[in-house]
Amino acid sequence: MTGADLHCHSIHSDGVHTPDELISMAKEKGLIGLSITDHDTFSTHQSFFDRDFLLIPGIEISAECVGQSVHVLGYAYDLYSKTLDEFCRFHQARRVKRNQAIIENLVEMGMPISWEEVKELSPEASSYGRPHIARVLVKKGYVPDVATAFKRFIGEGKPAYISGDRWRVEEAIHAVHEAGGKAVLAHPHLIKQRSIVRKLLSLPFDGLEAYYSLMPKSENERWRQEAEEHGFFATGGSDFHGTLKPAVHLGSSFTSFETVQMLYRHFLQHVKRAV
Ligand code: AMP
Ligand code: FE
Ligand code: FE
Ligand code: ZN
Repeated sequence: MTGADLHCHSIHSDGVHTPDELISMAKEKGLIGLSITDHDTFSTHQSFFDRDFLLIPGIEISAECVGQSVHVLGYAYDLYSKTLDEFCRFHQARRVKRNQAIIENLVEMGMPISWEEVKELSPEASSYGRPHIARVLVKKGYVPDVATAFKRFIGEGKPAYISGDRWRVEEAIHAVHEAGGKAVLAHPHLIKQRSIVRKLLSLPFDGLEAYYSLMPKSENERWRQEAEEHGFFATGGSDFHGTLKPAVHLGSSFTSFETVQMLYRHFLQHVKRAV
């Protein structure tokens, strides 16, 4: 394999593996590099280069555009950026409020769980979301598995769902740029409304995720072309979360060597501070 998986999650958000485990797994699979793009957190705070492996600093920011959930990936930014760290912490606090409101809905629906139980079951996370709530629902026997929790109760549009306040996409892009990083539109195929896709493609993104584990292969060429037409680079990543999404495997989608090298060079030349 000659690429790097630039989209996966660790225990710092809703993944089940530690960053070290993810790096070992990526090396075993023969990937040339990795970016651990945890949701709205700066905790996965590392980068390194060894002779044959590149770790690119990464993050996935929860944003919205006209009510539509949109994820913005940030890469190769300053790991010591106070602005981006605070930006993440602000949203982590909003997530807590939103999670508590979802929990209140579940309690009213006859599934008494508490915020304390959610934190106890996933103590390493700094950014909590619906998967952490789902794990408690499974543990207490209210649903057989996480997928059912989403399908019946906490998925978008289901009775206990609350979207909560999120960043505007423009704000997310700006925060990544302020930290010296590159902003990439994640899994664009999930956005079904054409007018929103058009608006997103007109924003100052640097890249677009044209290869994604759960994107139908027939759509890759369309998104690669959109990237080219708009002057964006194309990235690829799996969105691996471990057993949270059993059908998604690390390295099942990846970014080309040239693009990973460009990102790492950008990081070294423009962002990384002398220590
Ligand atoms: P949140 O960030 O709290 O809105 O939760 C969204 C996260 O839930 C996504 O990042 C996915 O990792 C996860 N997720 C969404 N749908 C499912 C599902 N059906 N099964 C497992 N995880 C899911
Ligand atoms: Fe996730
Ligand atoms: Fe995402
Ligand atoms: Zn993701």
